[in-house]
Amino acid sequence: MRYISLGSGSKGNSTLIEYRSRSVLIDCGFSRKNLISRLQAASADAHCLEAILVTHEHADHAKGAMAVAELVDSPLYCSVGTAIKMGWIEHRLWRPVSGGELLDIAGMKVAAVTVPHDAKEPLQFVAEASGRRVGVLSDLGSLTPHVIEAYQGCHGLQLEANHDPEMLRNGPYPPSLQKRVAGPFGHLSNAQCAELIQRIRWPGLLHLTAGHISEKNNHPERVIATLSEYIGAAAEQVSLLPQDDISGWREI
Ligand SMILES: [Zn+2]
Ligand SMILES: [Zn+2]
Repeated sequence: MRYISLGSGSKGNSTLIEYRSRSVLIDCGFSRKNLISRLQAASADAHCLEAILVTHEHADHAKGAMAVAELVDSPLYCSVGTAIKMGWIEHRLWRPVSGGELLDIAGMKVAAVTVPHDAKEPLQFVAEASGRRVGVLSDLGSLTPHVIEAYQGCHGLQLEANHDPEMLRNGPYPPSLQKRVAGPFGHLSNAQCAELIQRIRWPGLLHLTAGHISEKNNHPERVIATLSEYIGAAAEQVSLLPQDDISGWREI
C-alpha cells in the first residue's frame, strides 16, 4: 500500500492512495486539468481511480472532484450534507457515505470519520488493506475523542498543521476570520497537531506528514519547531507537504 499528496493547503488538496495498482483519490481541490498533471507527475493514471472521496464542500477540497469523477466515470463518495452543498444529490455518480461507515473500495476498507469543522457534514478518511493503515486528516478545529480513537494504529499519517496562533493573531485576517480559524470548528494549530501526534503515535508508525499549512498564518520553520518540541527526537521523521508540488510516494 502506498500514498502520495498531490498538493496540500488552502489553494487545493488531494491525496492518492494505491493498493495493488488500484487507487482511490481523497479530495480534489484543483481543476481537472491541474489534477491530471499532478497525477502524471506522480506517474499515476487517472483511469486507475476506482473512486473519488470528498471530505467536505470547501473549494480547496471539492472544486474539481466531480469533473474528475466524470472524466474517469468513477463513483464519487461524500456525505449527504456535502452533496447538498455541492448540488450533487441528483448526479448519477454520487454515492452517499456517513460518518462511522466502512466502505469497500479498490480492495481497501475505507472508514469515514466525522470531524468538527465549519462545513455542513464533514468527514475524513482512514484506509486499510492487508493490515496496513493510512490516516488522512485535515480541516478540523478540535481533537475529539472520536477522532483520536479513529486514527489509532496508522502506519502512515497525513495530518493538518494549519496555523501558528501568534502569527494568526498578528496576521492579515480580520478578527472574525481569525476566530473562525482558531475556533473549535476551524483548523488545527501546530500545537494541536503535536498533541494529536502524541496521542496517536505508536511503534508501527512509519511515515508522518503535516500539511494544510497556512501561507499567511504559519511558517514551515514554526511547524517543525513546534512538532519537534513536542515529539523530540522523532522530528526528523516529520515532513511537510507543499501546496505547489506533489510529495514523494510513501510506502506502508
Ligand atoms: Zn481545507
Ligand atoms: Zn475546510
